[in-house]
Amino acid sequence: MRSISILGATGSVGEQTLDLVRRNREEWKVVALTAHSNVAALAAMAREFDAEVAVIADETRLDELRAALAGSGIEAAGGRAALCEAASRPVDMTVAAIVGCAGLGPVMAAIEQGGTIALANKEALVSAGEVMTEAVKSHGATLLPVDSEHNAIFQCLSGNRIEDVRSITLTASGGPLRLVENLDAVTPEQAIAHPNWDMGAKISVDSATMFNKGLELIEAHHLFPVGLDRIRIVVHPQSVIHSMVEYRDGSTLAQLGPSDMRVPIASCLAWPLRMDTPMAPLDLAAIGELSFFAPDEVRFPATRLAREAAQAGGAAPAILNAANEIAVAAFLERKIAFSRIPLLVERVLSEGQLPDPPRTLEEVLGVDGSARKRANELLELA
Ligand code: NDP
Repeated sequence: MRSISILGATGSVGEQTLDLVRRNREEWKVVALTAHSNVAALAAMAREFDAEVAVIADETRLDELRAALAGSGIEAAGGRAALCEAASRPVDMTVAAIVGCAGLGPVMAAIEQGGTIALANKEALVSAGEVMTEAVKSHGATLLPVDSEHNAIFQCLSGNRIEDVRSITLTASGGPLRLVENLDAVTPEQAIAHPNWDMGAKISVDSATMFNKGLELIEAHHLFPVGLDRIRIVVHPQSVIHSMVEYRDGSTLAQLGPSDMRVPIASCLAWPLRMDTPMAPLDLAAIGELSFFAPDEVRFPATRLAREAAQAGGAAPAILNAANEIAVAAFLERKIAFSRIPLLVERVLSEGQLPDPPRTLEEVLGVDGSARKRANELLELA
């Protein structure tokens, strides 16, 4: 039996991870499950999987969680410190599936245990790039990418030397708005209606703006040290090829599969082996056609902004991420138009001098907090 903790268990990635655990129940012991405020789902999961501890990040809901778990023998905890404490319990596998920079503290707590972390929470790596990769090295932890593109690259790199890589190509579906003319009039409902993937609201909006691909560019830059100029993006609306690696001999390896996150999650859970999933065999004749386009960085400037932030390095990616989180939340609350999301991010990024590169978790959180504050001020001014 292997032990597993799932941070962000009630989300889209968390639920899909638990679906795989459910299918292989005898192989896993569930230690910690966490959520932000969804007490009912968290308590039901904790009971079903007989978790050791269930943590609700919103401490005001702790009494509710205690009541929901009464008589089960499952420990209930609440608040940010409890989240980090639960994440620091030694396990064979931690699935980091909290959305946003809010997941950074718990991910770092898991890394400090030196175990294996299946990372979905891209915002944490984008914000804390060097700090997190240094911590992975110094604590002897293993980071496995859950993001389908990075998982594809990870698989295509297997058995090869990074020195032999000529380029990495991240594929992008282009999101639901690729062909929509008036981006000013886009509603949250339209933006989250992703054509290929069923995901949480924030990443769905990120896919629509292409910030998702921008964040993934920065994520890839930290995970696969080939140089930023060798990481490319191509729009591939069918989402069948999840990414590609080109080698210096002219060979390009690609990973293909259905648009179902259980495939990359399973690849992490079973790594370095393979496990069964309920996927139907890939039917290329039924798919018929695979198409590819260059990204349109005029209508969707997010990938340009992310590349510039990655080039600037230091605090810039954390600022980009924080401003984007605030802008997406404001858009989902119908406070700003869709097209203002990249404008707000660009404005926050371009104001004044960049702060010194953050060297510790606290410094990253400081940069994140200041950028959020500035983004909120600019929202108020508008
Ligand atoms: P969801 O919004 O579906 O779920 C987010 C999870 O994080 C929930 O468990 C939520 O709890 C919890 N959470 C939210 N805010 C906080 C907070 N402030 N503190 C602690 N916990 C919090 O997100 P997804 O599953 O879609 O995405 C999770 C991460 O995985 C993101 O970083 C995303 O970019 C990445 N990812 C997702 C993919 C997908 O297919 N969904 C694909 C690739 C990457 P509650 O339910 O109580 O709100």
